[in-house]
Amino acid sequence: QQEVPPEEGIMDSAPLAGPNVMNVIVVAAECAPWSKTGGLGDVVGALPKSLARRGHRVMVVAPRYGNYPEPKEVGVRKRYKVDGQDMEVTYYHAFIDRVDFVFIDSPVFRHIGNDIYGGNRLDILKRMILFCKAAVEVPWHVPCGGTCYGDGNLVFVANDWHTSLLPVYLKAYYRDNGLMIYARCVLVIHNIAHQGRGPIDDFSYVDLPGHYMDFFKLYDPVGGEHFNIFAAGLKAADRLVTVSHGYAWELKTPEGGWGLHGIINDNDWKFQGIVNGIDTRSWNPKFDMYLQSDGYTNYSLETLQMGKSQCKAALQRELGLPVRDNVPIISFIGRLDDQKGVDLIADAMSWLVDQDLQLIMLGTGRPDLEDMLRKFESEHHDKVRGWVGFSVKMAHRFTAGADVLLMPSRFEPCGLNQLYAMMYGTVPVVHAVGGLRDTVKQFDPFNETGLGWTFKRAEANKMIEALGHCLNTYRNYKNSWEGLQRRGMMQDLSWDNAAQRYEDVLVAAKYQW
Ligand code: ADP
Repeated sequence: QQEVPPEEGIMDSAPLAGPNVMNVIVVAAECAPWSKTGGLGDVVGALPKSLARRGHRVMVVAPRYGNYPEPKEVGVRKRYKVDGQDMEVTYYHAFIDRVDFVFIDSPVFRHIGNDIYGGNRLDILKRMILFCKAAVEVPWHVPCGGTCYGDGNLVFVANDWHTSLLPVYLKAYYRDNGLMIYARCVLVIHNIAHQGRGPIDDFSYVDLPGHYMDFFKLYDPVGGEHFNIFAAGLKAADRLVTVSHGYAWELKTPEGGWGLHGIINDNDWKFQGIVNGIDTRSWNPKFDMYLQSDGYTNYSLETLQMGKSQCKAALQRELGLPVRDNVPIISFIGRLDDQKGVDLIADAMSWLVDQDLQLIMLGTGRPDLEDMLRKFESEHHDKVRGWVGFSVKMAHRFTAGADVLLMPSRFEPCGLNQLYAMMYGTVPVVHAVGGLRDTVKQFDPFNETGLGWTFKRAEANKMIEALGHCLNTYRNYKNSWEGLQRRGMMQDLSWDNAAQRYEDVLVAAKYQW
């Protein structure tokens, strides 16, 4: 008999948000479980539910990339102009976990399937223009449970450059013309590395009055004078949030701000970091549905040692690795690009394969890095696996079955995998940067405190040093290891804390004039 996961968070008859109950519309290019390429999808799938539990009326608006089973068509059609062309959109709606999920349907979204950011620069730009133009009017046109949200007491939450046009449209089309004057927009920075850059001429596509050019025009030594959508969103939004305190600090430096640090510094008064939470229903070893077959098992703090051993054996079997309980499994999960530091693992490979360990990697991304994973697997078949693909099931199973999670990211706005790992008693070894520095405290063997190992520079020898300490503890200090696992699992990493912080920002935006 499977235990049923309880609903997360506190249920009160009176809303926790008290007198500040608001209409909140989170707008994003991805939303798990329907669409996800990384952390953005996870955040958009989970934060709204926590805000709804606090008593707010909450909607998520995302493109409809496929035929999702739950949402039903609402029977409303609207047309928006993109590059001089009239484009029709329709809307699909589902009410799940007290959140209204609204999907905007158009052939331009449906045709790209799972390749959310696929196509050339102008294709992506036009998709995002259509999406933002339609999303900003959703509260007027799309009935949810019988009534539209309307534009009173309304705060939009836009995310990353893809929806940075939303605060600009809100201002230029509506507020400048005496409409939606009480609506506000918070913009969340999940990753500054992607900004919607293009030549200055791109301004003609966004369909705005000429004086709005100043919002978009940016000069930096790398791109010269160019058109920058993120820049415009940062200026137009009423409040700015990023996903950790460490990243908030880095974004204000020339190295971390990727050309936008000047604008972020100018707008520091409306900017703050809030560390992401995790969805503790889907990422919970006690209820994880991917651990309910193929020899895996659910486990908790009480059954940690037996449960994790069983998952480890099941994972070794599934991956065709020697089934040995005493060999440490080190795992890596993530997008294969410069950010995630897979090249550090490559540089450390000869050291790694000299150790008695198993190394398992799951990722998709740059074709050369995908080939590298395949090559490592074929060259070291007795101890290395490089699984090229995007598999949520395997991400869960890697997290449960591994002993160590390696995250050598060069930069990491928040990072979710290290949070998931700690929930599963898997010890993180991370580059101390951005959200990784915020969330993984270095192990102190004298006081038996800390959650994992950190290294200060993104260099293979520094990573090897940290891994060396980690493996030594794993092999020789079983009590310390179990302490690390238990401290990780006992943390409250749910969205409830972060949702409260977000609520403070929404309230501040609401009273912003
Ligand atoms: P980012 O947003 O930079 O990609 P995060 O650590 O914040 O990094 O979030 C990554 C999310 O994407 C996690 O939920 C992780 O499990 C998931 N993920 C990344 N790569 C894969 C993959 N190949 N298969 C399944 N899930 C993946």
